[in-house]
Amino acid sequence: MSELRRNPFTGEWTHYAENRKNRPYEFLHKIEVKLNGSEDCPFCGGHEDKTTCSLYQDGANDCWKIRVLPNMFPTVSEEAEVLLENAFYQHISGRGFHEVLVDTPHHEETIDQFSLEQLQRVLVVLQMRYCKMMKEEDVKYIQIFKNCGASAGMSIRHSHWQIVGLPVLPQREELMRGHMQEGSCLFCKMLAYEKEQAVRIVEENNDFLVITPYASRFPYELWICPKRHIASFANVTAGELESLSVLVKGILPKVSSLRKDVGYNICMIDGEISGDFHWHIEILPRIGGFAGFEYATGSYINSILPEQAAEYYRKGE
Ligand SMILES: [Zn+2]
Ligand SMILES: [Zn+2]
Repeated sequence: MSELRRNPFTGEWTHYAENRKNRPYEFLHKIEVKLNGSEDCPFCGGHEDKTTCSLYQDGANDCWKIRVLPNMFPTVSEEAEVLLENAFYQHISGRGFHEVLVDTPHHEETIDQFSLEQLQRVLVVLQMRYCKMMKEEDVKYIQIFKNCGASAGMSIRHSHWQIVGLPVLPQREELMRGHMQEGSCLFCKMLAYEKEQAVRIVEENNDFLVITPYASRFPYELWICPKRHIASFANVTAGELESLSVLVKGILPKVSSLRKDVGYNICMIDGEISGDFHWHIEILPRIGGFAGFEYATGSYINSILPEQAAEYYRKGE
């Protein structure tokens, strides 16, 4: 059973997921994945019998494009009950939901190689699962993310996303405070300012603005921001998902070409369920490490100014 414990000094929640220690860690233990790579992979097309029943599959076995599975090594589980301890420390049992969305049946295909149609399908299904999960009792926050590459924490090589519904709001200050301040959205104000300045804009279309944020934590960090105030991923329209997939299709190869085998995380940043936030996507390349200074201080050292990063992305080299 999983458990969340609260740090009494910072308010941060740490997840203890006993069963995760058994997960495969293909990369850490350097288990050789052969070039065809797929014999033992539970996510490959044709290997449906290696996983528990799918929660969603968009075609018959052997010809699906997207599958959603319950995570075999969840950080939270559906069975656990929510318990609050009335003592010096606080803990909550990890009731929640943890799903894996396998976004390609092909073992070696990576998201930067996906067709436009596939990217769009992925976004549509992610949103569908988000909308389903947000209706679950006790889910206060949903984190959608994707780890690409070993340095970004990917433990199974086959491309996939994770969708985690949590019983508590993570203690990231931005999430707790929200974007609404004195009746107006700070994020909307930031976008207006970025448009005016035009130094950190990488790309834009009718619906989205791609920027390298002013106080980027990671070298070449990118945010894909909806121009209109969208309070939650659930409220993104079908047309906006389509235009988002066009942007993502253009941007990801540029991230991948930062250097050989660069790892990166793609995170959807949402607020508390039913809260008012400015939903957006953050792409975090993992160049250099999260090291002692960052852990000790909570501050980041970034060797690339966001203005330089924006220039790089605009050139597209
Ligand atoms: Zn596979
Ligand atoms: Zn806004």
